[in-house]
Amino acid sequence: MNVIWARSIVSLVLLAIACAGVGMLVNVKAALILAIVMLAAQTCFSTFHKQRLWRLLDAPVYGEVPSAPGVWGEIYYRLHKLAKRWHAQVRQVEQQHSRFIQAIQASPNGVAMLDDHDQIEWCNAISEVHFGLDAKRDLRQHITHLVRQPDFVKYLNSHLYEEMLIMRGMGEKRQNVLSVQVFPYGENRKLVLSQDITELERTDAMRRDFVANVSHELKTPLTVLSGFLETVRELPLPESERMRYLELMEQQALRMRHIVSDLLVLATLEGDSKPPSEQMVDMRAVIRHVQDDAENLSGKRHVITFDIDEGLTVTGVETEILSALGNLVTNAIHYTPDGGRIHVDWRANGGSAVFSVTDSGPGIPATDIPRLTERFYRVDRSRSRDTGGTGLGLAIVKHVLQRHDAQLEVKSEVGRGSTFTVRFPASRTARRQPAPA
Ligand code: ADP
Repeated sequence: MNVIWARSIVSLVLLAIACAGVGMLVNVKAALILAIVMLAAQTCFSTFHKQRLWRLLDAPVYGEVPSAPGVWGEIYYRLHKLAKRWHAQVRQVEQQHSRFIQAIQASPNGVAMLDDHDQIEWCNAISEVHFGLDAKRDLRQHITHLVRQPDFVKYLNSHLYEEMLIMRGMGEKRQNVLSVQVFPYGENRKLVLSQDITELERTDAMRRDFVANVSHELKTPLTVLSGFLETVRELPLPESERMRYLELMEQQALRMRHIVSDLLVLATLEGDSKPPSEQMVDMRAVIRHVQDDAENLSGKRHVITFDIDEGLTVTGVETEILSALGNLVTNAIHYTPDGGRIHVDWRANGGSAVFSVTDSGPGIPATDIPRLTERFYRVDRSRSRDTGGTGLGLAIVKHVLQRHDAQLEVKSEVGRGSTFTVRFPASRTARRQPAPA
């Protein structure tokens, strides 16, 4: 027997005893009236509390326990405890849910959830961008009404989701490439995961182009070399002719050596850690080196002038700076016809250190300028080949400058000449103490 039954029986027994007492002491009529009054009071009391309970069940109040005597007090107390526990559980589930949503929102991939009719139940911000969706507006819309690409519709309806689907022309500008895969889950529901692989595809294409370019660049001198080898081996050539062929072979071998060595330099630059920002370059020595090389290479065929701020220097790797700046000056000499002028300038400008090479050479068409630092890009193929160029010089310059937080600017006018300017940031610019008198 539980507490409620026990209490009800006790109340009834007490009522019976009270009525019997009144009946014996006063009369039966009075006992009957007492019994009716007591029962009516009891009914009113329990009706009041039933109504209160009803209201409470409709809208539970977690903060306060309604007070009531006896069993009702106990009911309210227990109900309150239960409601509090549920409330805590609901809050915990809500928090977990919101953390889960936050985690999916933070994912770099697109996530869209479809119901059993392929209607959008939810999607994260990346998925909105990938497919041009609006998480609120497009809720409960059939996904193929919004993502209409025939490939996607076919893939979704195929129910064969082991392979991922590559979708091109996606995103806001219709220039992105997505890899999309569907994962069925639950009761016929689907998860659509998408990843932007535009950059990946671009690097892959660049890698393929690069391999093709290297092969092509090496194949040309190799073919020439094998031709000469065959000639020397098969034909009875006079000694002078044989020597000429050997020289030409040597030139081709040297060209291949230059290409391979430039490729190795590029690979090292790409793999190396960033140059130290506290190591000061002996800029006077670098410029002296560049000047000597320039004069040797030109052999007085050009008018070369230098205007140098001797105390100005930068921090970084000396050999790399020498190779980058030397390359710009060497190019100016290579591409400027005899009698032309070349001016080299090294000065501070608004906190930056600026190195510039101006030549009176043939100039470069505006359309070629943005592509100059691409590997193996040449404006004039035959001229570059004549000068023994590999087409990798400016790619190396770009890498060195990037590693030193510096920038390359090219200004050029066809027929009037070019200026290649290197701007080192203030953070890498330094001043050497003047040498003692
Ligand atoms: P290369 O080894 O062929 O010189 P670079 O990468 O150094 O390769 O230069 C790329 C191309 O830029 C060259 O082939 C040349 O056509 C052009 N170029 C570079 N410097 C100059 C310059 N000072 N004047 C005219 N053209 C230049």
